[in-house]
Amino acid sequence: MDKTKYIFVTGGVASSLGKGIIAASLGKLLQARGFKVTNQKLDPYINIDPGTLNPYEHGECYVTVDGHEADLDLGHYERFLNVETHRSNNITTGRIYQNVINKERRGDYLGKTVQIIPHITDEIKRNIKLLGSKGDFDFVITEIGGTVGDIESLPYIESVRQLRWELGKNCVCIHLTYVPYLAAAKELKTKPTQHSVKALQEEGVQPDILVLRTEHPIPLDMRKKVGLFCNVDPQAVLQSMDAPSIYRVPLNMQAEKLDEVVLTKVGYDLTKVPEADMRDWNAFLAKLEGATEEVNIALVGKYVQLQDAYKSIMESLSHAAAYNDRKLKLKTVLSDKLTAENVASQLEGMDGILIAPGFGQRGIEGKFEALRYARENKIPCLGICMGMQAMVIEFARNVLGFADANSTELDPHTPHNVVDMMEDQKTVLNMGGSMRLGAYQCELTPNTKAYEIYGCKSIRERHRHRFEFNNHYKADFEKAGMVCSGINRESDLVEIVEYPAHPWYIGVQFHPEYSSTVLKPHPLFISFVKAAIENRKQKTGK
Ligand code: GLN
Repeated sequence: MDKTKYIFVTGGVASSLGKGIIAASLGKLLQARGFKVTNQKLDPYINIDPGTLNPYEHGECYVTVDGHEADLDLGHYERFLNVETHRSNNITTGRIYQNVINKERRGDYLGKTVQIIPHITDEIKRNIKLLGSKGDFDFVITEIGGTVGDIESLPYIESVRQLRWELGKNCVCIHLTYVPYLAAAKELKTKPTQHSVKALQEEGVQPDILVLRTEHPIPLDMRKKVGLFCNVDPQAVLQSMDAPSIYRVPLNMQAEKLDEVVLTKVGYDLTKVPEADMRDWNAFLAKLEGATEEVNIALVGKYVQLQDAYKSIMESLSHAAAYNDRKLKLKTVLSDKLTAENVASQLEGMDGILIAPGFGQRGIEGKFEALRYARENKIPCLGICMGMQAMVIEFARNVLGFADANSTELDPHTPHNVVDMMEDQKTVLNMGGSMRLGAYQCELTPNTKAYEIYGCKSIRERHRHRFEFNNHYKADFEKAGMVCSGINRESDLVEIVEYPAHPWYIGVQFHPEYSSTVLKPHPLFISFVKAAIENRKQKTGK
């Protein structure tokens, strides 16, 4: 068996059922059996990528090592599988149309009328098969965004229909639906599932496996009934119960035999395939679920009303808390509402404070207040991207005495632009480029906290920003005790600042949260949470 197998995950009844988690869980289980797996997300929206989307639309924008601004589901794939994803793992309708239109302009279609079928569907299929074409993967798991029946997702479902014909047994379709529980009638209802499978069938796709998301266990006879209505083997009708943590889902899916059913459908002899080795995963889960003592972290940002806006940061904190045997108590604090008067009451009892990334003016003054509070009260503090830039500005204002210090992003006329756009970046931007995106090298300064945390001299971390620490002020900062402990040598950019007069005060221009995974929590988060625990022990004895 050497041919790549293609698994498709579609969704019905409602959005937000956790298709990404089911797809990542299946990926994990197959990987734990020794297969090489990659997960892909197809997004039916017209944006070329989510880079221009407000986080309130689709949650955080995730960034891959090769600098692609991607859907947040890629974050789940990396956190679950501990393997990097790339530009080709996330495709949008915008990208598909852009490619087809570019080909049309080049004359590639030789005078033909360009149509959804076959040209758009061919381009979709090309992007799906591209991942399997190099022979790097045994399984390509492709999740189709949106809900079956949406106008936007039609060309994708049509592409899946065509691929089923082309790939035959090397293709499996999984459909995730929702089985609501009517409290008044005390009944689970499968009708919406039946309708959604009908909709999928009308578009020409017969699902092989149904995963029913539910808040209550679904009895076997009900599953059989669903199978009968939908032409699906009863043993391929699985339930996905609400789980206390997303990291439980792979084990729940293993108990439901999702991986076994998939392997059987693509023709594997189960007696010849190793069992899934989930020992490391279970060890993590035991720590995550077994921790009793708490650690209280405040996340200060301007998009805190939507949980998904800071998905990777929240997951990284949860990995680091589990690693340190603590239960994470996360308090999200809207930075717009923070003032000098209320900051103490808002952040009271916090063991550590994290200042979130962000763009633009809104909420920035509140971040300065939180930073001042953390700095003066010696509370461990991690600033990420804009959080690091705010750290530098607050320090310039209140320690260096530049009352008007600011970033040129926030105030283009400030006399003390301690955060600015570098000259070479300005040139790139004038040429139509936009942000510094993806993984860049960073050299760590020996005898600094950063060096000690990473335990090596050179690191690579992912970026997504336009502005930088202004080297013009470097000497002023260093004289006042702030240390630039991470430098990108190629462009002479300050990537990490730290303040040794404080127990743990570190700002990073990059985004460590994109590379924390279950099996490899990020060292900066581990160290930050550890410092928060130390702070808690000193204050409360616990
Ligand atoms: N607004 C800042 C910049 O563009 C930081 C962006 C971010 O936090 N991701 O430089």
